[in-house]
Amino acid sequence: MSRFWKPGAERPQLLDDEEGGVIFFSAPSSAAGLYGYANLERQRQRLPVYKFRTAILYLVEKHATSIVVGETGSGKTTQIPQYLKEAGWAEGGRVIACTQPRRLAVQSVASRVAEEMGVKLGEEVGYTIRFEDVTNPGVTVIKFLTDGVLLREMMDDPLLTKYSVIMVDEAHERSLSTDTLFQRRRPDLRLIISSATIEAKSMSAFFSSSKKRPIQVPGDHIPEAVPAIISVEGKGFPVEIHYSEESFSNYEPAGDILVFLTGQDDIEAAVRLLMEDGQAPESRSSGLLILPLYSGLPRAEQDLVFSPTPKGKRKVIISTNIAETSLTLEGVVYVVDSGFSKQRFYNPISDIENLVVAPISKASARQRAGRAGRVRPGKCFRLYTEEYFVKEMPNEGIPEMQRSNLVSCVIQLKSLGIDNILGFDWISPPAPESMIRALEVLYSLGVLDDDAKLTTLLDPMISKMILSANEYGCSEEVITIAAVLSIQSIWVSMRGAQRELDDVKLRFAAAEGDHITYLNIYKGFLNSGKSPQWCHKNFINYQAMKKVLEIREQLIKLLKRLGMILKSCEKDTLAIRKAIVAGFFAHACRLETFGQNGMYKTLRSSQEVHIHPSSVLFRVNPKWVIYNSIVSTDRQYMRHVLAIDPSWLTEAAPHFYQLQKPYPAAY
Ligand code: ADP
Ligand code: MG
Repeated sequence: MSRFWKPGAERPQLLDDEEGGVIFFSAPSSAAGLYGYANLERQRQRLPVYKFRTAILYLVEKHATSIVVGETGSGKTTQIPQYLKEAGWAEGGRVIACTQPRRLAVQSVASRVAEEMGVKLGEEVGYTIRFEDVTNPGVTVIKFLTDGVLLREMMDDPLLTKYSVIMVDEAHERSLSTDTLFQRRRPDLRLIISSATIEAKSMSAFFSSSKKRPIQVPGDHIPEAVPAIISVEGKGFPVEIHYSEESFSNYEPAGDILVFLTGQDDIEAAVRLLMEDGQAPESRSSGLLILPLYSGLPRAEQDLVFSPTPKGKRKVIISTNIAETSLTLEGVVYVVDSGFSKQRFYNPISDIENLVVAPISKASARQRAGRAGRVRPGKCFRLYTEEYFVKEMPNEGIPEMQRSNLVSCVIQLKSLGIDNILGFDWISPPAPESMIRALEVLYSLGVLDDDAKLTTLLDPMISKMILSANEYGCSEEVITIAAVLSIQSIWVSMRGAQRELDDVKLRFAAAEGDHITYLNIYKGFLNSGKSPQWCHKNFINYQAMKKVLEIREQLIKLLKRLGMILKSCEKDTLAIRKAIVAGFFAHACRLETFGQNGMYKTLRSSQEVHIHPSSVLFRVNPKWVIYNSIVSTDRQYMRHVLAIDPSWLTEAAPHFYQLQKPYPAAY
């Protein structure tokens, strides 16, 4: 008998489905009031999903996979993780995970759930997105994260042992990461797939196929492999839909407006237009507070969309599809849907991946409309005709798997130990051309060997540094650093002339350390027109610099094939230093004793190390450093040293530094 299901209690009615062996539940007639009278509690109980609480818990207990379909606003995202916790799924150090397709959604639903539970964000309820981990291991029991982060966790722990349940939310978005996540699993790990619009039958058929069922082991706590589907009936608040041919009043009653456009450029243009409009004193729009929203916008500016609307003003949020799912923007009453979004499309024949403006699907249109009517009735204005919506708009978008360059997906699968990639059983199989193209590219880059096994092309730390640079927007600079680090030395050997060499170094030396110094040298070299004389004058090895140029070219080719765009951060060395730390966090050291050549200890193993005399930080002795490599002569010397801020370490590698805890106490 199951642990959470009480026999004889409000057992929901079972309806057998003849076709798929799938079990459906119908709604029970009423919900039992379990909670006190706190306002938020009452709000929670009013949500449609509340009536299905027992049924959902029953299904999750009994079935390895449960598919929850319910309209936007029914309470799936914020409530189901809490129900699971209340039912005991977080006991015994286990964690309930809920994935979201976008970071903004992760952050905002996590803070809402923390608020509903009356806890501080980052304690019982936390979240993890790339470069930001707001969880407290051992304390956090409900964790929101992007599907990409979960996939990355899977690389370290393929069975995802710390999780009891994983809820893949907004599954209709069908990102590359979620489709990959569905491939392998631990028999007792529960999967909940939830969405407002999902082809529940095809998903269920996928999980019913024998290959995808977890291995059946006799025993009390192993769930049934047959997936269950539950449909959560009931809506949030009504949203009136208006199509473009209808006329509607320009004077709508109070309420914020959320406008969906396609990308940063058209959003900025629209913001400018509205602002100019607002300047004219007579203008009707002067009461507007215009806010852009897209993923590249600084965090503080993104957060403005969540702040309360000042009295007498109307917020107008102009957004990409990052606001399309999961978000509750409290003041929003009106949604304007342009009917378009920017989507990635890959052509395996030309091997080109493009971001193009394309029509959205009905599923997306419903999600967009759903952003109104979250806390009160709303209206959605669709800038296309009803006929277009009904007759031409596709029901669902094309899964990312079928419109992407699969190079990084293949690397991920290979590193999960999944080798038979061509014979693979996907929910929506990618085009064979795309798969073959990806394998070809990886083979020609030397990432896969003759047996299609992963090789290590670059040192993993350098690779990580370059990948992070891509996210920090400083790949131009970081590949230069990577190239310099991969050769012996860029200085001419100057036995007996150490003093002169040191003087020369001062011309280029950067306070941040060697890595940034190398950038100064590279710049100087380019400015000299790559002149051998310039090198000679500055004790720089001309052959070595030519090699740096060559390696740099190779790296550029590699990045382009991997679909990355070279970007310079100009003079922002912070981005560069953080990217370096993201790769080399394991090589962090703290100064222990000051003096001529101070003694450092490695954080990882408390080994004594010193800064190599060739480093620009020799005798400078910053408190925290990371190094590239160690040379041992009479002592252990760190080569290529960079001064860092220790907070970057936890940011870059929360797991690593939480396990070790060598510094937070002392810091
Ligand atoms: P679903 O995932 O089914 O779309 P959610 O669980 O995200 O639904 O939200 C359900 C409802 O809870 C919303 O429609 C809204 O009424 C309320 N809610 C959620 N988040 C917030 C928030 N940040 N502020 C106010 N109300 C919220
Ligand atoms: Mg949701």
